[in-house]
Amino acid sequence: MLQRGVTGLANALTRPLISDGAEVLVRHIPHRVASTTAAVDRESIARRPCFLCAANLPPEQKGLAWGDGFTFLCNPFPIVERHLTVVHREHRPQQIAGQVGTMLDLAAALPGFFVIYNGPQCGASAPDHLHLQAGSRDGLPIVRETAGKAGPAIEAYGMRALLFRGPDRSRVRGETERALALLSAVTGRGPEPWCNVAAWTEPASGFSLVLYPRGKHRPEAFHTGELAVSPATIDMSGILVAPFPRDFERLSGEDVAAVYREVTIPDDQFRDVLARLENRC
Ligand SMILES: [Zn+2]
Repeated sequence: MLQRGVTGLANALTRPLISDGAEVLVRHIPHRVASTTAAVDRESIARRPCFLCAANLPPEQKGLAWGDGFTFLCNPFPIVERHLTVVHREHRPQQIAGQVGTMLDLAAALPGFFVIYNGPQCGASAPDHLHLQAGSRDGLPIVRETAGKAGPAIEAYGMRALLFRGPDRSRVRGETERALALLSAVTGRGPEPWCNVAAWTEPASGFSLVLYPRGKHRPEAFHTGELAVSPATIDMSGILVAPFPRDFERLSGEDVAAVYREVTIPDDQFRDVLARLENRC
């Protein structure tokens, strides 16, 4: 299964496009169809056996224990090189509360990787089982777009996000948790705002954490059947997964920018959050 996935990634086609003035990568990976089109409503999730629970893993997937209750697993449907799923041992809901520090520790433990959190409403295919992911950040557009920038606002290829960075783990964690609370207040969504998170470390700048506030899970064109893209953290970081050849072949830079704009938090809410961050209220 993993061999099929690794071969599938090796054979994936990647097309660079200019989206709102910045380069993004559209990646055609047929083995992502099930994940892109997955039903993640409460009833569908309750009906299926949880594929992240230890009892339901393929017997060959032994895992490697890490940190406080987590296990590294190989992701058999990789989007990037060395794609890992980092799963909590207990079947408990996906939530960011208490996990920002875990993400930073994981980022520090995995040089050359980036660490991923997909919110339960925004791309987690197991919203009922706490998990992170990690993978190689080679060529990842968001790393290039944030290089040398201090944040907190990052606007690139159509999306708007918040960047927190520095050598001090507790400060980056505190700023992120404050931003999550402000996003919940501004968007009226709880217990956590709709979001994706990416984090990594670099020797020169320490921790970097990008918080992608989301307005929608999927673009309208997904629901009408016109376009099978379902953005999660890797997509928001600039690698847009297109599992069907027709989408991969016809997507233009303008189409891609429009998808990013549509699934990102609306501009007025983004400005409101930025103002509150700066006012320290
Ligand atoms: Zn589970």
